Amino acid sequence: MSEDRVPGFDTLAVHAGAQPDPTTGARATPIYQTTSFVFNDVDHAASLFGLQAFGNIYTRIMSPTSAVLEERVAALEGGTAALAVASGHAAQVVVLHALMTPGDEFIAARQLYGGSINQFNHSFKSFGWNVKWADIDDISTFEAAVSPKTKAIFIESIANPGGVVTDIEAIAAVAKRAGVPLIVDNTLATPYLCKPVDYGADIIVHSMTKFIGGHGNSIGGIIVDCGKFDWMASDRYPMLSQPRPEYNDMVLGETFGNFAFAIACRVLGLRDLGPAISPFNSFLILTGSETLPLRMQKHSDNAKAVASFLASHPKVTWVSYAGLPGDRYHKLAERYCPKGAGAVLTFGVEGGSDAGVKLVSSVELFSHLANIGDTKSLIIHPWSTTHSQLTEEQRKAAGAGPDVVRLSVGIEDVNDIIADLEQALAKT
Ligand SMILES: *Cc1c(COP(=O)(O)O)cnc(C)c1O
Repeated sequence: MSEDRVPGFDTLAVHAGAQPDPTTGARATPIYQTTSFVFNDVDHAASLFGLQAFGNIYTRIMSPTSAVLEERVAALEGGTAALAVASGHAAQVVVLHALMTPGDEFIAARQLYGGSINQFNHSFKSFGWNVKWADIDDISTFEAAVSPKTKAIFIESIANPGGVVTDIEAIAAVAKRAGVPLIVDNTLATPYLCKPVDYGADIIVHSMTKFIGGHGNSIGGIIVDCGKFDWMASDRYPMLSQPRPEYNDMVLGETFGNFAFAIACRVLGLRDLGPAISPFNSFLILTGSETLPLRMQKHSDNAKAVASFLASHPKVTWVSYAGLPGDRYHKLAERYCPKGAGAVLTFGVEGGSDAGVKLVSSVELFSHLANIGDTKSLIIHPWSTTHSQLTEEQRKAAGAGPDVVRLSVGIEDVNDIIADLEQALAKT
């Protein structure tokens, strides 16, 4: 490849960040299963600890296996740097830890993964990080929620579980006017279907547990620094704009420029909070990432066929999938995810909660479990499971009413997927 050729997405998915192991020639990225790394000498150790040089110290803070994964996801998202952590939820904690002090506020879309709604409403509140909810169907609610205490806005590109597509650019404009970063959870879309950086995202988070890993075998999360937010423009983000005594009064936002946020998350958040990803999980997720483009296209194509089948089934009262022409989010999907609207869709089954429970008990090819983004087709009734810890009103607002069934359509033969749903619907 000549120097000035910019590799395409599919090439980055296979190669970004990786090279044959310099010591052994191993073509696959090795699993560096070690807690710590030997220093060259005392000066080398001091420069690593003082952030004067980049290098490996201890696997809570960095690992060569995870470093390849970080470089790959940063390349796929078009960011400047990334930080892999133990889970998607850990990514959210580490991001907000870098932005918030007790008493601060952040604005979040109501249409979020149920676990995030819980995390924001309960654990984050106990840290003094106060969430204000807004509605992606009415952008003015984001504008109205802005206050002098607002430190960030948090949305999902494609929202779990409703098959909802967010108008990222419109919300990015609100964030820009407020002078705060826009955080986009891009788990359901992945950078193959949607590139939030192109629409004004400042920070991207993923549960790599889902489509980036893609095989339902490892929990992991990642934070991508898009490199555009000016942390030094105000004194609102002291972790980035104020001297750090433990690092010789270094100002991270000054020293590390357009990847300062990723550094702050690593050397303050991950260092102190501790949710490190294991090198083995990074290895499995890295392997999965190589086929991300192939899988996401097949997931989306299969999901669209399944959605069309369901839309014409007499026992199905409604289907929410932005890939279907006529869906209320179809226009936004055409704009933000033109290659497909992803694997996840919801539909209403006639007979409400009882019929939903019957359906998930009757499938054979589908697995009844609480996950998305596996190669295998998955099904769940959110009302009685993932969203059961929320109030009735919150469940409905999050698109998880009593009759709602959620599918994560896998990459099996689509005729087998449809046949399984057909036989299970016949039993409801
Ligand atoms: C699963 C999920 C999370 C949480 O990720 P974990 O890896 O389970 O901690 C966050 N956001 C979305 C959209 C998810 O689907």
